[in-house]
Amino acid sequence: MGTAATSLPERNAAEVADLVLAPETTAPEVRARRVWQRRQMYIGQVASYSLGGAVLLLYAYDGAVSMAVPTLFWLGGLLIIGTFTVLSEAGFGDRFDDHYLTVYQISAHMALQLVFLLAVPTIGVAFLAVLFLIFAFGTLRMTSSQAMLTWGLATCGLTVVFLGSNLPIGLPVATRLQRTASMLCFVLVIGQCAFLGLFGATLRKILYKRSIELKAAYRRIEELAELDELTGSYNRRCIMRLLDTEIEKSRRASTPFAIALIDLDWFKRINDAYGHPIGDEVLRTFAITIFANIRPADSFGRYGGEEFLLLLPDTSGDVALRTLERLRGIVADLDWGAFSPSMRVTISAGVVTLRDVDTADTFLARADSALYSAKARGRNCIATS
Ligand code: GH3
Ligand code: MG
Ligand code: MG
Repeated sequence: MGTAATSLPERNAAEVADLVLAPETTAPEVRARRVWQRRQMYIGQVASYSLGGAVLLLYAYDGAVSMAVPTLFWLGGLLIIGTFTVLSEAGFGDRFDDHYLTVYQISAHMALQLVFLLAVPTIGVAFLAVLFLIFAFGTLRMTSSQAMLTWGLATCGLTVVFLGSNLPIGLPVATRLQRTASMLCFVLVIGQCAFLGLFGATLRKILYKRSIELKAAYRRIEELAELDELTGSYNRRCIMRLLDTEIEKSRRASTPFAIALIDLDWFKRINDAYGHPIGDEVLRTFAITIFANIRPADSFGRYGGEEFLLLLPDTSGDVALRTLERLRGIVADLDWGAFSPSMRVTISAGVVTLRDVDTADTFLARADSALYSAKARGRNCIATS
């Protein structure tokens, strides 16, 4: 009886999201998918009315109602479903957020039940039961205002039937067949409500899974927006932001803070001698080497080209110098033979510690001038200022 849901099977997440969220996009494939979803729903509704009609047929067979009741009920249902199917196939609902036209569907099916309730009150409880099914169907798609509206309509209709008439609304249980039919009314409505509930739960589960996936994708996008594509170190924007943050932290906690501007020596020659792709590999290997030899609290980012910025929070000038000396030695001693037997790679760095008068710009400028001194001293060395 009444309305039924679309089929339950595991749809893919995109389909389900479309089903629930009614996206604004009306791309042809989205529209085609919606038409398919609505067809499933209408097939379900035909099945539901056929079941209802079959139960009414039992009452008619028993003589409790005329044969016209199941026939007209079934045809009435089919007329409503047919009308909405034609509208659906014509794409009428696609212009609305709720492309299922849920409120109109609910109102039409509800009106049909109330008409039969007034026409055949002796089996009226059977039609009342269908109202529960109609609203169970509505909960899958209705917004709160739609729910209020349809509930209001139901209240008006029921007021007219119950208070506007003295009709003896009931459910026949005089014979064995009538008792069976009455029982089936409830069994079928409860079964279909359970089915709809299960469908709703499946939607929620899939949407929850999707939200987790979206969060992970968002995290990944954030990560990618912060990283330098070639070396995997922080990009310039990110390392500059971290520099500001660390300066602030160091001032607040009165802890020392050192930075080092690191530059690969004669890198242009490496590119010229071995080619740009090998140059890229050298940069990558250098970055991995630095990552493997700094503390988790330190931050390492690409400042530009073959120049990198290392932030060493809570680090005094002496310790910073020793750290950079250690890193310089590690890079110089690395076996670069995998790239070419004759390859040698060294770095120079300018190391400075934060002073009270420093801004991020002057701090960096001091590191840059220290780097310049290191280069002037012949490279493969660390200088400070
Ligand atoms: P110095 O010791 O004075 O720093 O000499 P240098 O050759 O390293 O410095 P210079 O500034 O003359 O050259 C830097 C080179 O780094 C030039 C540029 O092509 C190269 N470079 C910058 N970014 C990349 C990159 O992403 N990949 C490669 N392969 N090379 C790069
Ligand atoms: Mg260089
Ligand atoms: Mg340079």
